[in-house]
Amino acid sequence: MSGERLRCLNPPLGRRLIFEQHYVLTPIEHYLVVAASDVPSPPFVIDSPGLEDGFNGDVTHRLGQTCRIEFHLHMLWDVEGTRYIDFGTGIAVLNTGHLHPKVKAAVAAQLEKFTHTCFQVTPYESYVELAEQLNAIAPGKTPKKTIFLTTGAEAIENAVKIARYHTKRSAIITFSGGFHGRTFLGISLTGKVQPYKAGFGPMMPEVYHIPFPMAYHGVTVEDSLEALYGLFKADVDPARVAAIIIEPVLGEGGFYVAPVELVRKLRSLCDQHGILLIVDEIQTGFARTGRMFAVEYSGVEPDLMTIAKSVSGGVPLSAVIGKADIMDAPLPGGLGGTFAGSPLACAAGLAVLDVIKEEQLLQRANHIGKFMTSRLNGLQVRFPSIGEVRSLGAMVAIELVKNCSADQPDAELTKQLVQAAARKGLILLSCGIYGNVIRFLAPLTISDALLKEGFNLFEQALQEVAGTTSIATTAA
Ligand code: PMP
Repeated sequence: MSGERLRCLNPPLGRRLIFEQHYVLTPIEHYLVVAASDVPSPPFVIDSPGLEDGFNGDVTHRLGQTCRIEFHLHMLWDVEGTRYIDFGTGIAVLNTGHLHPKVKAAVAAQLEKFTHTCFQVTPYESYVELAEQLNAIAPGKTPKKTIFLTTGAEAIENAVKIARYHTKRSAIITFSGGFHGRTFLGISLTGKVQPYKAGFGPMMPEVYHIPFPMAYHGVTVEDSLEALYGLFKADVDPARVAAIIIEPVLGEGGFYVAPVELVRKLRSLCDQHGILLIVDEIQTGFARTGRMFAVEYSGVEPDLMTIAKSVSGGVPLSAVIGKADIMDAPLPGGLGGTFAGSPLACAAGLAVLDVIKEEQLLQRANHIGKFMTSRLNGLQVRFPSIGEVRSLGAMVAIELVKNCSADQPDAELTKQLVQAAARKGLILLSCGIYGNVIRFLAPLTISDALLKEGFNLFEQALQEVAGTTSIATTAA
């Protein structure tokens, strides 16, 4: 993002003493002692009553005592010791935060047992347990099965393989502006040329794109459906279509929410033509939108669903979850992978599911989303460059435009805003088909205090690059 400054160096023992606030110590400890190579002796002692954010682990200070520190981390420190609040979470991977103590403990415990057997060679319990839990929470009543892979793109590849095998059809329909990974099938499905497809062609055959509804840009559900009917008429016989793939909220494409009527209509068209509906929940899943999976808002049961990212709190894991009879179609050995569903990732995934439940992250996502949208709506009044504020739960974005016009995307301002925020200690991500969307992906475990602090930094950055009015009026 901002180059050198953002090279990450955690834990934060560097030139500056970083432990400032936001900790929970174990009950025995009432203060925090930190050793850092260039922290002056005697070591710093910091009172930390009621603090909430941080990392956990044993820290030995210079007098040789060891303190057990437990905290949830929502910040990163760079090589210069600068602290960053993380509203990017490694592209929606850390809904449960960096190094959640439970996730970390589960991975550490697994590390003591074994790290790899290859599930296809020697199965292990955590894979089966996690698959069963995911089968139980996947939307819809039809019995489910799950296969684990490693990356999101790999989940997409496998979902399409399963769909083709089951239907004995080859064509795939997906959406302009959608994103489905960087493998050849991934970029072929992705509906954006620059930078994903350009120069890498030819793309995979038999992939068709239709417009994704974007009310702000005047694209309606009817427009999308008209395009689909047009495809069926002019380009591909629906009887040859294996699957339609949709993100319930466009991720990389700019956080446009798929209207429920579209998802429902796709479901009925798929049923009518024997096409499978694949829902890509890779960015939207695991409580981000205020539901475990965003497709739940529509009440639609997908035939296949792809997941990755926040399923496992930062340990690479992805999966296809689908209706059992469809998942059973390919022959044994046809799907899989050496590292697919690794023991460390499955242990992390089980812990993530516990954390989402125990810490009520669905409610938390809605709370965070409300806080963010109310702050952003306030800012929109003062900053005409904010063309639209969009959200579903804690999947929140703003679209930046020139002259208050949806047709004039301001990608340059967007870039400047990301950089200004980084200079102030806030990690933000941009996205969008025109590169003019800022997405907010704060960890769902973040404290209110840090969330507010992050937003104040955002507001200062916005003021710096786009503003002329005072920032004091909306800072909450
Ligand atoms: N699908 C969606 C919706 C995504 O957001 C992403 C990643 N941004 C992918 C697929 C690809 O995932 P990965 O980068 O893990 O291959």
